[in-house]
Order: sequence, then structure tokens, then C-alpha cells
Amino acid sequence: MAAPDILSMDSINVMATYGKRSIALVRGSGARVWDADGKEYLDLLTGLAVASLGHCHPRVVAAIREQAGQLAHVSNLYAVKPQAALAQLLVDHSFADRVFFCNSGAEANEAAIKLARKYAKKRAGVLSATAGELPAESGEMCEQGPYEIITMSGCFHGRTLATITATAQSKFHRGFAPLAPGFRYAPFNDLEAVKRAVSEKTAAVMVEPIQGEGGDNIATEEFLKGLRELTGKRGLTLILDEVQTGLGRTGRLFAYEHYGIEPDMMTLAKPLGGGLPLGAMLARQEVADAFEPGDHASTFGGNPVCCAAGLATLETILEESLVERAAELGGHLAKRLEALREKHALVKEVRARGLMAGIELDRPGKDIVARCADRGLLINCTAVTFIRFLPPLTVTREELDRGVEILDGALAEENG
Ligand SMILES: *Cc1c(COP(=O)(O)O)cnc(C)c1O
Repeated sequence: MAAPDILSMDSINVMATYGKRSIALVRGSGARVWDADGKEYLDLLTGLAVASLGHCHPRVVAAIREQAGQLAHVSNLYAVKPQAALAQLLVDHSFADRVFFCNSGAEANEAAIKLARKYAKKRAGVLSATAGELPAESGEMCEQGPYEIITMSGCFHGRTLATITATAQSKFHRGFAPLAPGFRYAPFNDLEAVKRAVSEKTAAVMVEPIQGEGGDNIATEEFLKGLRELTGKRGLTLILDEVQTGLGRTGRLFAYEHYGIEPDMMTLAKPLGGGLPLGAMLARQEVADAFEPGDHASTFGGNPVCCAAGLATLETILEESLVERAAELGGHLAKRLEALREKHALVKEVRARGLMAGIELDRPGKDIVARCADRGLLINCTAVTFIRFLPPLTVTREELDRGVEILDGALAEENG
């Protein structure tokens, strides 16, 4: 099927939540993808930080094929080895003692929100032994105790009702009120403001170490360390959303390692399933113990095929030192982007940590991204004015250089 036919079938039948799409991709290998007409693109976006080993990594493809031919799904009534083994690997390499698997970043954050509330209520001693009467209206508060989660301006935690509410950006709320109760917002990187927002209602603080969708806003050391101290002192849980920063992207396996702190809970998704849908919520034992059998579940969560792909991905990241590679190549990419800032007046700032990097413009970046795609480079623009790279951890220096050169040309055209 030719690209125009796929695009017209797409635009007529798929709900228009993503805007009009202009490229129909059919095949990928490493950092390259091809459209239905055979045009090749350099993919330095990697499906929004998902295919962290590049497209169709042989080890991931083999793991998927093997597991699909053995057992694709049995539900969480039964144990399966890929899920147990991936949980073990995550526990071995992080602060966490326990893992809950789901299918996406939003679901991982939903699980974290539920666990934070239950843990806070358990600590406050307000949990009743029985479920009690169903109130007439869903919003009626039928339990006492802390429940509020403090989140940060410019954050992004997902698109479900609770996670858009957690997302402190009004553009994600418009048309969907009433939102879920129980969230309070504070400015990112403003420790004093978070301190002022804490009350007897507070259960947790949730934050991204780097706000990816917000335009790679990097948490200061003072802020994250301060949040760790504050939450510890006040008996609150610290939830880190590492859905985008996790698993090597920033040059450490988890971004919290840059700060010398450990959270109480962490959420993962994007690269976790090696291209298949997989999310996870990780917690310390004491926090995890607040979830009892029946409290939370997901039919597909921890699906054997997704976990087999995730296991192959994480093993490859660890065995091939791809975290160190991300740190090194990230340094190179940051330098090349810095040169673009010196050359083009419209580039105001470079924000980069490992292979999570980009440039802040003095204008919307949408047209520049479209021109890059015309020239065979896939990157994207977020928060209107931030053009970002999320290349695979396996990307080569030459591929990064070629990507920056294409962006350079697209920026030059904007100037002239
Ligand atoms: C993408 C993202 C999410 C949402 O993940 P989905 O899989 O789209 O639900 C949540 N948090 C962060 C930091 C993200 O980047």
C-alpha cells in the first residue's frame, strides 16, 4: 500500500487526537526507518524514547518471537518467568524492593498515586477494616487521612483523568472538568513553594527529575535533594516519574542517581518494553506493603511477551554498557547543539543530560521539525519552542552529527 493511501485511510478512520499525520512508516532498523514509499529517515526520536536499542534490535526481536511462540498471555492469576525475571533485574539495579507491572506511563503513575494514598492512610491509622457504604456521589470523601499529591508546574504524568490532573498544565485540562480531586501544584525547582504547599492533607510529592514533555527542564540538585529531605522529615512519599528519563537515557541507569538520592516510589514505561507496551511502578518494601491482594491489578500488565522484550532490552543495556555510552555520546551531542546556539540567533539555550537533549528557540519549532522531516530527520518539538533529540542509546556519533547537520540547515532556512 502506498503512503498516500495509508495516510488517507488513517485520516478518515483514526480519531484525530494526534493532528494530521504526514508520514506513514513501515520498517525500521537501528536509528533508521523507512516510509511506505521507500524514503529513508534518520530517527533520532525513537518513538518518543521507546526503542532505546534502536528499531528491531536482533536480541529483542528474538526474545519476542520466542516468547510469542511459547506463551503470549495467561493473566496475573499465574506467575510467569519473564515477569519475575524482569522484576528481579529492576530490583537488583535500583532502590526498589517490589515492582508492579502495567502497560503505560499513565497507568504506572495511577498505580503510584493509589499506593501513595493507601500508604499515607495506613500510616495515619485511618483505614477502616471494611469497605463501608457506597456514597451517593463518587466525589464524596468517605475516608479521612492524607491523600493530596503535590506536583510541579510544567510536569507531564499522562492522559488518564487522574494523571492529567496530576499534570500541572491547564492545556491538558480544558474540556475535561471536573478533574480528580487531591492534587496541588507548586512551581518546579522552587523548594520553598513546595514546603508551603505541604499540609496535613499531603500524602506525597511527585516529580520528574527532568521534565521531558515540558522541554527538558532539569531539576536542580538543591531541589531534588531538598524534596528528599522534606518528604523524609514530614513522613511523605517521594515519587519520581522516570517514565522518560529511566533506563539509561540520561547517562545514568536512573536519573535519580545524578542527585545522590533515592525515591520511595518510581514509575517507568517508555523504553521498558523494548518497543512493546510495558509500564512499571517500583517501591520500597514498606511502601509496597500498603497494597494488599485485590487493591490493584491489570489484565495485561506484565504480559510475558512484553516482559521478555523488556528483559532482553535491559540485559543488553547493562551488558553492552549503553548507559556509559549515553553519557559519552550525550556530551558530544550537547557540544554540537551548543555550536548551533552560537551560530543561530534564534537558538536561545541548550538543555541536555545524556541522550535527552535539545534546543530552546525564540519561536515555535513546529515548522523547523517539518523541514527536518523533509530532509530525512525525525525529531520533535515539545512545549511549543523546544526541539528535542531522543536518539536510541545505540546511536553512533556519525548519526548524531548527521542529525545536527540537518537541523543546522533547517535553522539556517528559518533565519534567511
Ligand atoms: C510519556 C510520559 C508519561 C505517559 O506515558 P504513557 O505511556 O503515554 O501513558 C508519563 N510521564 C512522563 C514523564 C512521560 O514522559
